[in-house]
Amino acid sequence: MKRFTFLFVGPPGSGKGTQAEAVADSLGLPHVDVGALLRELADLDNNTGRLIKSLMIAGKTVPEEVVLEELLVHLKMLDLSKGLVLDGYCRTQKQAKDLLNLQTQGVIPPIVVISIKVDDNLLQERITTRKYCELRNGEKKNIDNSFSVIDCQQQGGHISKRADDNLTTFHERLKLYHEQTEPAIADLKETSKGLIMVDGTPPIKSVEATIAQQIQHL
Ligand code: AMP
Repeated sequence: MKRFTFLFVGPPGSGKGTQAEAVADSLGLPHVDVGALLRELADLDNNTGRLIKSLMIAGKTVPEEVVLEELLVHLKMLDLSKGLVLDGYCRTQKQAKDLLNLQTQGVIPPIVVISIKVDDNLLQERITTRKYCELRNGEKKNIDNSFSVIDCQQQGGHISKRADDNLTTFHERLKLYHEQTEPAIADLKETSKGLIMVDGTPPIKSVEATIAQQIQHL
């Protein structure tokens, strides 16, 4: 297969993180989850950490220059010789422009957009019921059909929720998605090397199979 940047886009709760991880695992590609990188920064006890944490809890986007710098620092540490899986970037038109510049400069391989669609009502249900298991070794697993609350407890883990997975923050995140991210995706669709549109409503494994099948045709 050719070398690509698989760029996962979708509203909060669409499953883009889970699907991005599955593609990265199956193709052996590095996976950059921008939201997870920002959560690590938010945990730092300094001014930047406190600013990021307050914005994330309010459902707002983190300043573009902070995100781009973090992304560039991280990209430099990775082996992109086989490609890249990116999720959580391009939340604004400015970020889409910056990412396309990175593609033009050859910093990242040609972009294929994987856009996951889910109805707003289902997104709300998923986000407000979303839970994680934090294992003793620091690993975080989603609680879902393949890993239950009981599995978590049996492995000595504890159940946690993301601080921004509440109804008020969800509404703000979804509003920003419609207002700022959808126009950014429209820009990317015009200039990227490929576009895969996926219905994110079915169970995780079924969405995974659809994406795997579509990627084979690239
Ligand atoms: P996510 O893990 O993708 O749901 O992102 C969680 C939160 O991190 C978002 O609600 C934003 O506050 C912040 N965030 C993630 N990605 C970006 C980005 N590309 N630009 C600005 N803020 C971001």
